[in-house]
Amino acid sequence: MNRLVIIGTGLAGYGLAKELRKRQDKRPITLISSDDGASYSKPMLSSALAQNKDAAALVMASAEQMMAQLEAEIITHTQVEQLDTAARTLQLSSGQSIVYHTLVLAVGANPIQLPLQGSGAAEVMQVNSLADYARWRTRLQGVERVMVIGPGLIGCEFANDLLKVGKQVSLIGPDPWPISALIPEAAGRAVQQRLAEAGATWHLETFNGAIEKSAQGFVTELKNGQVVEGDLVLSAVGLRPNIALAQAAGLAVNRGIVTDAYLQTSDPHIYALGDCAEVEGRNLPYVQPLMVAGRALAATLSGEATAVVYPLMPVAIKTSLHPVVTLPVGKMEGRWALSQGEDGVLGRFFDQQERLQGFVLTGSNAALKGQLLKEMEERAA
Ligand code: FAD
Repeated sequence: MNRLVIIGTGLAGYGLAKELRKRQDKRPITLISSDDGASYSKPMLSSALAQNKDAAALVMASAEQMMAQLEAEIITHTQVEQLDTAARTLQLSSGQSIVYHTLVLAVGANPIQLPLQGSGAAEVMQVNSLADYARWRTRLQGVERVMVIGPGLIGCEFANDLLKVGKQVSLIGPDPWPISALIPEAAGRAVQQRLAEAGATWHLETFNGAIEKSAQGFVTELKNGQVVEGDLVLSAVGLRPNIALAQAAGLAVNRGIVTDAYLQTSDPHIYALGDCAEVEGRNLPYVQPLMVAGRALAATLSGEATAVVYPLMPVAIKTSLHPVVTLPVGKMEGRWALSQGEDGVLGRFFDQQERLQGFVLTGSNAALKGQLLKEMEERAA
């Protein structure tokens, strides 16, 4: 049978199934998820407190509703434990095994586990799923002081969300400035200043990697001797593509599951999509790339081989106290041309040939996203 099996019911897995049905592709589809299969928008996890939404309110459709909508079989609360590429079979945690004709790995990314020391290390929280968010909300009840380890994109979003519901927030990390992996210093400092004005305290370049339990909650002594206390600790130090299943099955992996421009892995019957995939050398763990790739893969699976071609994809950082939009440039050589006004930073990045390659907009400048994208398209033409 021409059965398509998709492992993962996140935005990538469900997105692909929806695209296939939009194309009137009627093949049998089975989706398998280790979670409850609820359809939700993961980016909401770091902005839902301020919107006063609990986990149930983030659910857009239950697994049962998705089954009806997609006319697909959805197996929930089940881990795929093994993939046998020769027999084209999956071994499930339920003991069942499933045969596929075509397999799509949409298994997402896992939070990076810091090698934390100290008596409180095991109680440090991470939020990367609806179930995590439900626990996070429960644990926050009655809590005033929260330590956030990791002042990157996701850490700053969680800090913003916590500040908006009146928590005291300490941001701690080895980073030289906030969101330093994506934006230049002036832009990071603008975010730092606005969050500080809203009550956040920043401890950059000074984390010593230990969280101890104390009578009141948790405590960490920083490299500079300062002591920071909190009632709850959140680790938000980034995500790593989930490559374990693919790697154990002998598929080519690097940072992510290696695919070509058609999302095909080193096995011609297996594709990878979303946060777990490294498409032509790039792992892009955001919603827009997985949607663009999902549309291309749906076309390919329906018989029109379609390479994924990414448009310019700016990243919006949901620090609503001081929003940021950036078209990141990674480690490209070049220079930033920055201007700083009362309410934010506007920066353009030029490569060594003086071509506009990226930008950053903070505060009210975030509204200039369309203008900057147009500028980039015109200069590229
Ligand atoms: P996931 O949503 O992680 O889904 C993975 C699925 O695989 C799950 O259903 C899981 O149960 C299943 N699975 C994994 N392994 C197995 C197995 N062995 N067996 C069975 N099932 C398995 N992106 C943006 O573009 N904008 C934002 O503002 C933004 N904000 C974010 C905020 C937070 C807090 C986080 C964590 C991410 C954010 N992102 C944002 C990133 C974005 O959410 C992800 O790129 C996207 O949700 C990834 O979807 P996915 O389907 O690839 O993975």
